Amino acid sequence: MKKEYAVIGLGRFGGSICRALSEEGMEVMAIDTDEDKVNEFANVASHAVVGDTTDETVLKSLGIRNFDHVIVAIGDNIQASILTTLMLKELGVKHITVKAQNDYHEKVLSKIGADRIVHPERDMGKRIAHNIISNNVLDYLELSDEHSIVEIVANERLDGNSIIDLDIRAQYGINIVAMKRDKDIIVSPQANEMIRKNDILIVIGADTDINRFEKRLL
Ligand code: ADP
Repeated sequence: MKKEYAVIGLGRFGGSICRALSEEGMEVMAIDTDEDKVNEFANVASHAVVGDTTDETVLKSLGIRNFDHVIVAIGDNIQASILTTLMLKELGVKHITVKAQNDYHEKVLSKIGADRIVHPERDMGKRIAHNIISNNVLDYLELSDEHSIVEIVANERLDGNSIIDLDIRAQYGINIVAMKRDKDIIVSPQANEMIRKNDILIVIGADTDINRFEKRLL
């Protein structure tokens, strides 16, 4: 059976989640207090409805507890976001993902039991900063406060070295989990795999260790 999603708040974040899920062929109900927003999504989502989700009767009438996953993407109105999350929790929604505006908001959301809290502006800022600082880093995914996966472009300093030549695991404590070369992807490359300029290395490890390795490329 297809999973059913509800997206509450159709701003930039909620709107893009709604589009992405719909493009993946998922059943999505889009909800917003703003009728214009709802009209905008009428042809995107499976259903688009006007409703104030801080009103429990509205949530009940939408049958919100029958959805597999509810995404709360109410932006600036933190009170409405918290209240909505609290009621979704009380109504027994199984998976609730909420967009947090700031650290205080995040703290409250985790206390009231949001299953997943996303911080898109902050995370995007960190990613962009990281990409600006290190020219070789293409993308960056935070796994925890201390660990990440990064995509690093091999420059001339790495060109012609094998993974064992660089002794990456012992010297830096990081692992190359995959390499991309043109259209090919080499998963779990062997130690004798030769690195060529412009290969993309997908590296996992502690941030401090990854940073040391990035400095090696400068
Ligand atoms: P973003 O930063 O992701 O663009 P916005 O703050 O612009 O977020 O958008 C949040 C959306 O949430 C707006 O379209 C707003 O109308 C909607 N919204 C705000 N409060 C409620 C509520 N109580 N119920 C449903 N939707 C709401």
